[in-house]
Amino acid sequence: MQHHIVPATPENIVHAAKIIRAGGLVAMPTETVYGLGANAYDSSAVASIFAAKNRPTFNPLISHIADIDFLPQYAETDARVMALAEHFWPGPLTFVLRRKDLSPALDLASAGLPTVSVRMPNHPVALSLIRQAGVPIVAPSANRSQSISPTTALHVWESLGPRVDLILDGGACSVGVESTIIDVTTDKIVMLRAGGIPLETLESFLGETVLISQGNPDLPTSPGQMLRHYAPEHPLRIHATAPMEDEFYIAFGPTKERFELNLSPRGDLTEAATHLFDYLHKADAQRSYPKIALAPIPEEGLGRAINDRIRRAAYRR
Ligand code: AMP
Ligand code: MG
Repeated sequence: MQHHIVPATPENIVHAAKIIRAGGLVAMPTETVYGLGANAYDSSAVASIFAAKNRPTFNPLISHIADIDFLPQYAETDARVMALAEHFWPGPLTFVLRRKDLSPALDLASAGLPTVSVRMPNHPVALSLIRQAGVPIVAPSANRSQSISPTTALHVWESLGPRVDLILDGGACSVGVESTIIDVTTDKIVMLRAGGIPLETLESFLGETVLISQGNPDLPTSPGQMLRHYAPEHPLRIHATAPMEDEFYIAFGPTKERFELNLSPRGDLTEAATHLFDYLHKADAQRSYPKIALAPIPEEGLGRAINDRIRRAAYRR
């Protein structure tokens, strides 16, 4: 049953925009991962995102916009934020800002916080869908809560099935990990989640250091409860320099070990990020090995985002 998946043609995007305006859920491709989108101003549509994903309602959603000029209407901005937006948008950078739009319809999407998170995705399908819907689209990753994020339309279908009204197929995601989230409401910028824009890139643009949040970016209001996330069904061992006999091994870089998949044979972190979730999906779908092991990834550039995801994927209560 794949009739929910349609190619992202102009006609299908028009149709998808109508679904958004009518309060439905559309899975859309972005450069990071597939998003499960709804009209930010429609509380019952937003509520159905939480229900479809089985996501706790205290975990706020990112608003996706298609136009920088819309940002100052939606949230409190300043020169620093606008400079960052001009430079990094469209792209995998999300700002946490003080809310300006106080309409109650946005309360659910922002989990009742006085802040709102916003980004402009770098994907023609997502941008066209947002423009045609004419509203900000709130979209978490289009998968069941805590499971592996989707980087293809089929991943979305496998995780959510008919809970989504329509899945726009725009091919595989080019970045492959979620956006970098920064809190810009205080003097010092704080990174809440490592993601598609490396910390080093932000710091060199800003000419200042960015703090790394000690709290849990998945739960701004109740830290420390969602250590498990992005998780496969098979037990996962990380920082594994070699596989055990019963492990499906995902390597990184040149290796003499036996491996099933290699995130990047030449040791390129950008390439590894693109493959990460897809390979976790593949490792989880196979039945030859009861366990999964993953090679060490350097803690620099996109490696930070990758390590953040695999730490949570490997977490067992
Ligand atoms: P997801 O959409 O599933 O990739 O997750 C979105 C992430 O953004 C979650 O970790 C949220 O906790 C975080 N987030 C969204 N809005 C806010 C906000 N206003 N303040 C802090 N974190 C936020
Ligand atoms: Mg997610």
